[in-house]
Amino acid sequence: MTRKLPEVTVFAGPMGAGKTTELYAMMGRLAHMRIPYAAFKPGADVRDQSIVPKSFGGNAETNGKNCTVVTTLDDIPVETLVGQGIKTIILDEWFMFGFDAARRPIPDLYMRTMARWALQGVERVYAAGLDQAANGHQFGLVLDARRFGAEVVTFTALCEYPVNGPDGPHCSSVARNSQIYDARDERAYTMDSLPSLLPEGARPNDRYRAVCPEHLLLPADETKPFDPAIL
Ligand SMILES: [Zn+2]
Repeated sequence: MTRKLPEVTVFAGPMGAGKTTELYAMMGRLAHMRIPYAAFKPGADVRDQSIVPKSFGGNAETNGKNCTVVTTLDDIPVETLVGQGIKTIILDEWFMFGFDAARRPIPDLYMRTMARWALQGVERVYAAGLDQAANGHQFGLVLDARRFGAEVVTFTALCEYPVNGPDGPHCSSVARNSQIYDARDERAYTMDSLPSLLPEGARPNDRYRAVCPEHLLLPADETKPFDPAIL
């Protein structure tokens, strides 16, 4: 049996690269063309440099940007949507869907989901989110999107590393990576000490920033190890 997967476009890149802006512009174009869509985002959100916990699990809710919050991709009522003529699915912060409630990666999620959605009648998927964790590892959903023929549009940002102290100017070189740092002392965590997904909401001082290669690969004495036990 052959199957035609949905056409998938992914907007990827570091913090502040305009991925979500592009996704919402796409939603505006779809609305203008009268193409119905439904938009979803995961219950835990990494946004605008801080890690904002949302209700993780339970009832779907709608946030201010017309994305319905769901816990997993399986919670999206695709059959009902297609029955209503909605064959375009929008996913914001979609890489977060790639992890279970214990923050472990879910294997084969991309292909399982797209194959099922294809059979259920989904024709188009637009997704946006980070392409890699702060430890440098690519998120599984993005890797599999590339592997299985999705269009992955990679955005860049400007490096936000403070080159002359916290109040100094930012580096502003081209940034393709994200870095996690401690807002209290502005120090980055050593890449290899970071998990692929942070403990949700437990560390209010952790922040994300876009960084260029020079400021991603800082010398050891300018970083500190990430200890998930320390708040
Ligand atoms: Zn830089």
